[in-house]
This record gives sequence, C-alpha cells and structure tokens, in this order.
Amino acid sequence: MKIQLPRENIILSEEKGEIRDGILYLHRNMFEEAMFELTYLMYGHVCYYCGKPITDISYSKEKRKGILKNSLDHLIPREFGGPSITDNLRPCCSGCNMKKGNMFPDEFRDFQEIMKMKNHREQKMSLKEFFSELDFIQEKRRYGEVQSLPDEWLEEPMKSVYVNFRLEDPIGTVFQRISQFYKKYKRIPYPIVVSGNKYLLDGFNSILFMKIERITRIETIKLENVIYDGLEMYTAHILSD
Ligand SMILES: [Zn+2]
Repeated sequence: MKIQLPRENIILSEEKGEIRDGILYLHRNMFEEAMFELTYLMYGHVCYYCGKPITDISYSKEKRKGILKNSLDHLIPREFGGPSITDNLRPCCSGCNMKKGNMFPDEFRDFQEIMKMKNHREQKMSLKEFFSELDFIQEKRRYGEVQSLPDEWLEEPMKSVYVNFRLEDPIGTVFQRISQFYKKYKRIPYPIVVSGNKYLLDGFNSILFMKIERITRIETIKLENVIYDGLEMYTAHILSD
C-alpha cells in the first residue's frame, strides 16, 4: 500500500527523514515518531472527534512518553492490530481518546449517540445491547474470524525482512502480550509494517515471537512509498522458505 503523505517536500524534525517527490525517506529508526509528526502536519492540532485544540505535543522519542499516547487515536485500535501509519492515525484529545478506547470509529459514533439520549431507561437498555454486541464482534476479531484490517493494506507475507536488533527491552510487555494472546487465539495480534525496501518499521516483537515459535505467516503491511535509507544496523532475517 501507499500511505497518505503531504504533497509537498518536507524535512522532518530531528533528522528523522524527509519527503521527496511523494516518497518518505526515513533516515533514522524513528518510524512511529515520523508517522505522528506527519499526522499532525496533515490533520492539524485539533481533535478529530470533538474539534478541541490539542496542545503539548512532542514528536521526540525521549519526550513523547505519555504525551502522544493521549493525543493521537488509532482509528483501527492497536488492540486489533491497527498500525501506526498516517492512514490509521488522527489527532485526538485525551478525553475522546479515553472514551473511544478500543472501539472502531463507527462504533464510537454509535456509542456517542447513545450517550446523548435523554431517556435514562432507554439509554440503559441501548448501552447494554451496544456493549453485548461489541463484546461479540471484538472476540470474533481476536480469533481472526472477522478481519480488522482492510484488504488493501495487506500484502502477501514476505520471505525475508531486514530487522534492527538494537533493542532495549527484548522480552518486554508487548512480547508478553503477544505470547498470552497467541495461547488463546492462535494468532499474532499485531501485523508487521515493512518499508518498500523491506526494512522492518514496526512489529519487532511480532517477528521475535515468530522466530521463537517457528511461525511462518504473519499479516504484513508493506509501505511502497516509504524507503529506509539510514545507517543503523539491520540484518536480514528469513521468515519463510
Ligand atoms: Zn476530543
């Protein structure tokens, strides 16, 4: 797929990368930060859901802890494999982000409609029905019986990718979440995101888990208009023969 990018040529902060003739060249291993910065460039500093201005934004890896988490929404929630790409990110105030939780945008709209209802008895019934339907569909998504990501984002799984093994916390919380999820649902919840020239941009823990468990297939999103051209150490890894 090709992700949404601004039309003009742009140089990102902190030498993360630049956009030249419709291609994003990443100079550093800061893909998520680059996506955050570009999302704000394209959508402005207002909440996508309520229109409130968003302040206190940082695109820096060191400074962003806790800040950006609350000020960007994944349209398809992270829990269901929603990737951190511009197509799936929108500026979002912390209030809306908290209320939306792990709902898809249309589910969140329905929820907000119910919250506006004046009759409390009716509202209570509608909420009960809403959440029981939500639980049902969410479990189907977890089992992969209902696909969360649009078909046009997904590629055939790749035979090999380049992976950067400079890692602070190799078996951290994300890895454990994948491992627990896999035990019950028999699938990896997070797809991998790969650049046009086959560098792993996101999904390191998914790859790690695959290699340990000898899994050979994973949902793959390949970004044709993103090229990694940095100097960090990447090594080639075979995923399947
Ligand atoms: Zn809001």
